[in-house]
Amino acid sequence: MSTLKAVRGTRDLLPPETALWNRIEATARAVFARYNFGEIRTPVFEDTGLFARGVGEETDIVSKEMYTWEDRARAQSEKPQSLTLRPENTAGVVRAYIEHGLGESGQLQKLYYMGPQFRRERPQKGRYRQFSQIGAEVIGPPSAGSESPLRDAEVLEMLASLLDELGISGWTLELNSVGSPADRARYNEALRAALVPVVSQMCEDCKRRAVTNPLRVLDCKVPADQPIIDTLPVIADSLDEASKAHFAAVTAALDAAGVPYTRNHRLVRGLDYYTRTTFEFTHGGLGAQNALLGGGRYDGLSEAIGGPKAPGIGFAMGEDRLVLTLLALNEQNAGAQKADAYIAPLGEGLNAAALTLARELRHQGLWIELGEGGFRLKKSFDAADKTARRIVILGEDELQSGILTVKTFSTGVQTKIPRTELAAFLSL
Ligand code: ATP
Ligand code: MG
Repeated sequence: MSTLKAVRGTRDLLPPETALWNRIEATARAVFARYNFGEIRTPVFEDTGLFARGVGEETDIVSKEMYTWEDRARAQSEKPQSLTLRPENTAGVVRAYIEHGLGESGQLQKLYYMGPQFRRERPQKGRYRQFSQIGAEVIGPPSAGSESPLRDAEVLEMLASLLDELGISGWTLELNSVGSPADRARYNEALRAALVPVVSQMCEDCKRRAVTNPLRVLDCKVPADQPIIDTLPVIADSLDEASKAHFAAVTAALDAAGVPYTRNHRLVRGLDYYTRTTFEFTHGGLGAQNALLGGGRYDGLSEAIGGPKAPGIGFAMGEDRLVLTLLALNEQNAGAQKADAYIAPLGEGLNAAALTLARELRHQGLWIELGEGGFRLKKSFDAADKTARRIVILGEDELQSGILTVKTFSTGVQTKIPRTELAAFLSL
């Protein structure tokens, strides 16, 4: 019988690496709290229609990457519902915003999430079929200030602070504006015209995009197409005064706060309800999958899925890629840390007493590995050396006298410590 393995594109996360995942999540939670974000947890699957409308039929995600199935109908008369594993979380958050009338408070909603997302992509380093995103959305009625460029700048400044706090040095913030839907329509026409004389020299995807959605040509990764793309008009020249002013206000606030960025004219989103600011944080250590996170403003999204006007801005970070980057930066693996002490009972008769001692020490906040009295002393020492900074020997004598023998591996020093002082000693 063949052995069963994790499905292609999925993987098990094991210690010690999971300690790094936990550190990333704890840091993100702490940073989000300082910016007054609250956590939202939406279901892992949703009605397929949400993504069709909220992500867009024409995107790679919806056109070819979703895990979709028909649920069993409850009654014969009923049509089976089409369900989809969430490929991203913004649509779910905006659906929840609408469903719970969160805009009715008149306040800006600042929500963050973290959890698994699913896309049927070709698996490779930094690209999986189940991956984890950490993201946040700032959304609310215009009267709450949701359209202000200050919101964009604050989110970007928060991301810069979070990446710095995580220890991810060397990131680049790439920034652009895709303007209003009208700006984008104008730009699409300019692109379409500029593509006519050159598109015959481009890749098959671009030939198709030039007709269906010229903006997408800017996403092309084919090397031979790049010099051609560099000659195409840029969207900055198609922006109206209001969009230009918005972008200028975002960059002015970033300049004032000292957050560095570069303008990337090719950073566009092909969807109608994406507006104005778009951004990506990239990192050189990631190779081909160099985007740590992506985001932007989506002033029309709520209305696109049947809700009230609720402009917003948000981002999604690829947690898998944060981990890869930190590992590449030689992050001291948190899991390589060792327990404060390993308790070695001398004989099975002392196992119960050893559990009691471990309980005492753990209640005092110490990180304890509990050994096994059935081991020979040499085996206990070997196991202790691998997992803990110190070994505590608990024999019949130690139990009676209340004086324990402790060896510190880094120095090789062996000491006798009264049980009452043991916790203080082990925490040194
Ligand atoms: P890419 O161009 O790399 O496919 P994307 O535009 O599809 O990215 P978004 O939908 O904006 O990505 O998702 C935000 C972030 O989530 C990305 O910047 C990336 O870090 C991460 N991400 C996206 N897809 C995957 C995946 N299949 N595996 C791991 N991380 C991913
Ligand atoms: Mg993708």
